[in-house]
Amino acid sequence: MAWKTLDDMDLSGKVVLVRVDINVPVENGVVTDATRIEKIVPTISDILEKGGKPVLLAHFGRPKGKVVPEMSLKPLVPALEAALGRKVTFAEDCIGGPAKKAVAAMQPGDVVLLENTRFHAGEEKNDPELAAGMAALGEIYVNDAFSAAHRAHSSTEGIAHILPSCAGRLMEAELKALEAALGTPQRPVTAVVGGAKVSTKLDLLGNLVSKVDNLVIGGGMANTFLVAKGIEVGKSLAERDMAETAKEILNKAAAANCRIILPVDVVVAREFKAGAENETVAADACPADAMILDAGPETVAEISAVFENSKTLIWNGPLGAFEIAPFDAATNAAAKKAAELTEAGGLISVAGGGDTVAALNKAGVAEAFSYISTAGGAFLEWMEGKELPGVAALNK
Ligand code: ADP
Ligand code: MG
Repeated sequence: MAWKTLDDMDLSGKVVLVRVDINVPVENGVVTDATRIEKIVPTISDILEKGGKPVLLAHFGRPKGKVVPEMSLKPLVPALEAALGRKVTFAEDCIGGPAKKAVAAMQPGDVVLLENTRFHAGEEKNDPELAAGMAALGEIYVNDAFSAAHRAHSSTEGIAHILPSCAGRLMEAELKALEAALGTPQRPVTAVVGGAKVSTKLDLLGNLVSKVDNLVIGGGMANTFLVAKGIEVGKSLAERDMAETAKEILNKAAAANCRIILPVDVVVAREFKAGAENETVAADACPADAMILDAGPETVAEISAVFENSKTLIWNGPLGAFEIAPFDAATNAAAKKAAELTEAGGLISVAGGGDTVAALNKAGVAEAFSYISTAGGAFLEWMEGKELPGVAALNK
C-alpha cells in the first residue's frame, strides 16, 4: 500500500485532525440513522488509545460556502457522544479563534468537533489558505472519509499536503477491500452491473470490460444492450440512442476477452407496480405492449454458474426493478448465491451504490458480503478507474 495507516504514525500527545463523513440524516434536530457516526468510532478510539487528541473535521449538507444555521454540525454532538461514550466539545468554526480555543483546552481523552467545513467558500475550491488554517490547529492529518475522497476539497485534499497524513481505519478497510476486488484481484473476476440506465454508467462499463473476466449486465441497462443486438423490447426502459455505444462496449469486451452475460429470459409486465400480473419469456420475446422488469430464472442460473467459477465479485446495480415485488426475484436470488459462496470461503464479494446497498439489505445478505461500500459517488468513481484526489493525496 502506498499510503500510511494509523499504525505508522506516532500520535502520542499530538493533536490529530481527522476528516470524517458524518453527513447523517437529521430530523427535527435529532439524528435518525447513526450508521456513519458508528463507523468512525474505531478510528477515534484508536487515536485516543495511542494518546492522540482527535479533532474532527466534517461537512454537513450543501451550505455552498455560507453559514447556514440549519446545516450546523452542533446537533450531531449527542449522537457522537453516545457512539464514543465520552464528551465531545463543539467549536463554532473549523478555523481561527473558536477552533484554536477548543483545541488548546483539550485534555487527554477529549474529542473536539469543528463546525461544518463547507461554511467556508474555500472548502469546495480547495483553497490553500483554508487548508492552512485547518492544518494550523494540529500536527497530524487522518483522512477517514473515503466517501468524500472523490472531491478535492481543502479538508479532503489540500490539508494532506501540509501535514503528515495517513488513512483512518474506515478508509483503510475500504481501500483494502477495493484493492482486493479490482487492483490485484484473485481471478476469475466477475462484475455485475445493473440499474436503470447505460448512460449513467458508461465510464464504469468501459473500465470494467478491460479489467474483469466476466461482466453480467442486468436491470434496465440490459434492455439497451438487447436493442443493440437487434432485439425488440416493447415498452421496456431502454435508451435506444445509446445502442451504438452499447455495441462499442460489446466490441471492446470481445477484444479484451471479457465474457458478457446478458439476460436469456426476462420477466415482463404491463404495469410498473407491486404484484403486477407478469410472465416469464425468452429475452427476444418481449410482447410489444409489455416491459421487462426483471431477469428470469434461466438467467439467474447462468449468473449463479458464473459466480461459482469466480474468485472475486464486484457488484453495482440491481438486476431488476427490485423495489417492487416480485421484480426483486433475480436480484435476491443472485445476491443470495453470492452470499453463500462468500460464506463458504470461495468468493470475495464487494458491492456498492445507493440502490445496490438497499437491494442487498432487502435481500438480507449484506452482512454476508466481504465488503459493502456505502461511499456512493466515491465508490462509483473508483470502479470507473478514476483517481480519487483524497486518496491520491495520502500517497507518499
Ligand atoms: P445504484 O444506485 O446502486 O448505482 P442505479 O441507480 O443505477 O443503482 O439503479 C437502480 C434503479 O434501476 C432502481 O430504481 C431499479 O428500479 C431500476 N431498474 C432496474 N431494472 C429495471 C428495469 N428492468 N426497468 C426499470 N427500472 C429498472
Ligand atoms: Mg441509484
